Parts: sequence; C-alpha cells; structure tokens
Amino acid sequence: MPRKCSLIGCRGNYEPRKGESADANKVSVFRFPKDGEKKSEWPRRIPQELLAGDITNDMVVCEKHFEPRFIIRDYVYTRPDGSSFTCPHEAPALDPEAVPTFFPNTPKYLSSPLPPKRKAPEDCRAEAAARDEKVLKEWMDSDAINGFDDFVENVSHKSSSLPSEWVMVNKVNVVLFVLFVNITSSLIPTVVASFKVFNNISVDWYDAKCKRNRDDLAWLLGDEGKLSRWYDLPNLCTYVNN
Ligand SMILES: [Zn+2]
Repeated sequence: MPRKCSLIGCRGNYEPRKGESADANKVSVFRFPKDGEKKSEWPRRIPQELLAGDITNDMVVCEKHFEPRFIIRDYVYTRPDGSSFTCPHEAPALDPEAVPTFFPNTPKYLSSPLPPKRKAPEDCRAEAAARDEKVLKEWMDSDAINGFDDFVENVSHKSSSLPSEWVMVNKVNVVLFVLFVNITSSLIPTVVASFKVFNNISVDWYDAKCKRNRDDLAWLLGDEGKLSRWYDLPNLCTYVNN
C-alpha cells in the first residue's frame, strides 16, 4: 500500500470505507521538499491544523492538494528530427515549482490557489525556438523541388540569380545547364562545364570533355543524386565550375 497522505483529515491512500470502491482513495503522493525555497514554502502554505507535528522524511502530501498543472503525468520525448511524442509516467511526478494549495475538508479560506503562472524564461525560449522551427519548416517546404514538373515550371525564375555565363536549355524531359566562356567577347565561345537535370530530377554533370562521376555530387544531392532543393542549384553551379 503506498504511503498515506500526511495531512490530517485527508484520506489519500487510506483503505476504502464501507461502500467506497476499492480505489476510491488511491492517489499519487509526493515528499516534502528537502531543500530550496519550497522547503519553507510548503509548511507556510499548509494550514497548521493539518500537520501533526514537525515535518519528517516519511511525510507525504497527496495530489489532491496541488493544482493539476503541477502534476506531470506524461514524458514528452523529442526525436532527432524535432518531432515529439508523449508517453505516460509510470508514477506521476511533481513540478519543482509546485506548492500545495488545496485543502479539501477544511474551511474554504484555507484553500488558496496560486496566481496564474507567469511564463518562465525557458518557456519563452521554447516558444521562440518553436517559432524558429516553424519558419525553418516553412522555408524548407517552399524550397523543396517537388518533381520535374515543378522544376520546369519554376526553373527560369529560380535560376535568375545564376551568373550570366550559365545558359539554360529547357527541353522535354531534360533541362540542360551550360557554362560558357567568351559569350560576349570576340574569342571562341567554349563550354567549360555543364549538367543535366533529368525528368526524375537526377543530375549528370560534365566538364569540357568528359562525363563526371555522379558520386562526386553525393555530398550535395544525396546518394540518389537528385536535385530536391532550389537552394542547391547555385551550389551545384559553383561546384561544377571548380
Ligand atoms: Zn491528501
């Protein structure tokens, strides 16, 4: 049987009375704080007439005396990708900020809810982080290349900031990017590098004379060698040029 609530008159974890269900008084209980400002605050909050004497290590206060927001019933885990999931605590934990404020079976004036919680700095920081994450996610979503049709439709606009030596040739099922030198001078125009984006948004690349190894682009395009982000397009141009 778990410990009984130490506050006089409370029946937390006491045997059920006749006619009560078996778990009528089952509650979670929490020890008195051993240190910090809560150590002195708890006894100040608890009406003297509910304490049988000095507070000892064995004494506990049950969940009925705390605002529900202080009882932590779930763990929130954050996965590496930032998403989270919750799972219940085996035994509820008490928020370190909790103080007992409810004293059922005592005159009403003895129960004194706390003022609404002010936002702790860490909550503000968490909110800011969540906002940043949202902005990042929106950017990631808007930066994604969703297949070849999306690529063809937006490539003119998205490649407008590429250096003018890059010429784009848009054909059925392939978009070719060619880097010329001597486009505007009187010298012989020459191709120094190029790459093709195929209709599965995979990329092949070439120097002036040879096809180059796709695997060399894996650091940028991943193992599948696909151009899945607009952000990577100028990076690809820069890399192919070097
Ligand atoms: Zn109790």
